[in-house]
Amino acid sequence: MTSSTSTSSLWRAWTPITQQAGSLRIVEARGNRVRDAEDNWYLDGVSGVLNASCGHGHPRLIEAANQQLQKLVHYDPMVSSHDPAETLASRLAAILPGELNETCLVNSGSEATEAALRIALQYWHNIGEGRNRVITFEAGYHGTTHLAQQLSGLPFTVSEWSAPFPIDRVALPASPRALRTEEGADTLIALFAQAIEAGPPAAAVMVEPLLGLGGCVVLPNGFLARLRQLCDQHGTLLILDEVFCGFGRTGRMFGFEHEGITPDIVTMSKGISGGYLPLAAVTVTSPIKATFTREPIARGLRYGHTTGGHAVASAVGNAVLDVMADEKLVENSATQGALLLDELRKLESSPLVTDVRGLGLVIAIEADSPESAAAIGNAAVRSGVMVRHERGVIRIAPPLTITADETTEMIQKISDAVDVAATAHA
Ligand code: PMP
Repeated sequence: MTSSTSTSSLWRAWTPITQQAGSLRIVEARGNRVRDAEDNWYLDGVSGVLNASCGHGHPRLIEAANQQLQKLVHYDPMVSSHDPAETLASRLAAILPGELNETCLVNSGSEATEAALRIALQYWHNIGEGRNRVITFEAGYHGTTHLAQQLSGLPFTVSEWSAPFPIDRVALPASPRALRTEEGADTLIALFAQAIEAGPPAAAVMVEPLLGLGGCVVLPNGFLARLRQLCDQHGTLLILDEVFCGFGRTGRMFGFEHEGITPDIVTMSKGISGGYLPLAAVTVTSPIKATFTREPIARGLRYGHTTGGHAVASAVGNAVLDVMADEKLVENSATQGALLLDELRKLESSPLVTDVRGLGLVIAIEADSPESAAAIGNAAVRSGVMVRHERGVIRIAPPLTITADETTEMIQKISDAVDVAATAHA
């Protein structure tokens, strides 16, 4: 299976310029498979961009979009409201815990981060405390707009600008494997406590429940629950970035549910619309929103986009929630994810594999070098299963609609790819 594309005027900004010409061209996707321009079908091991959680071409999602397109495409979200967005916001309030009842709808995960930060910082302003320091994981990823990009210390996101407020980043102390020991949560909590105590009162701590683009790093049991306590002790807001993990990816509706906590602010995108249309959300607690009714800022948040809460995207978001419930996709994510992880863990016996980890339908195979990861990843794609390899890690995150047979096929093809790469390496 070879790549296919000709010279192009399309600049895909994340892809190094020299690699753009060799990219695959995808022409069709159905269920859990995608087809390239040379008629090769692949089992989708990455859910598009980790967002096709309901699979591709789902008739109910297409129908929801069609119906809404015919009725009302969108209307000015500043002066009016419409049913799809109202319904989606109230359904999110119903599935999120505690007082997480107030939702702004935007278009991308980065915009959700932007909105979350603005809300958090303005909240402190509203209540008369000038807190503006934010603490994140160095290996966290929260988006690519100017503010969002500053939060991450991942080398591939590094930019030359500095944020208009202080950000302190906590580095992961050890290998992902070492984090999964009993002491893992102690070590990480001590680092966050140190970061919080090392400066003026922190406005917010923002973390993902599992560090997605940072290498699918599964955080230690108990970490999030203790981070919640730590934030409470310091009056610091806890923002959970559920862009990658939300909507069933980790085997629970939201990643933070594994620890039974209630964050103050939650950001969502990707799975919220199954990737069918751009859609994202930030939900905050009612007491946070209540501070925005005070004068002189009673006007509101002063943040929003023309297409925020787009009616067709919101209609699809509502249909995603129906499909997820009817097809038991959260449960399937937990079941198929456990199967995948159990079987793929056996690859740790390969000389090329240093760690296999995961939660729900996020699995990472860490190789002994970026070259080995590339060899394994490329062999997997050649055998017909789409995976991503980045910085020594092969990421596997199929649609939550994956069937037991497809899981078996994926395990077989990825295991064979590891063998092929090991043989070539020997
Ligand atoms: N947060 C997380 C955890 C993400 O994984 C991503 C995207 N991969 C984003 C934020 C940014 O989302 P977007 O690309 O839609 O701006």
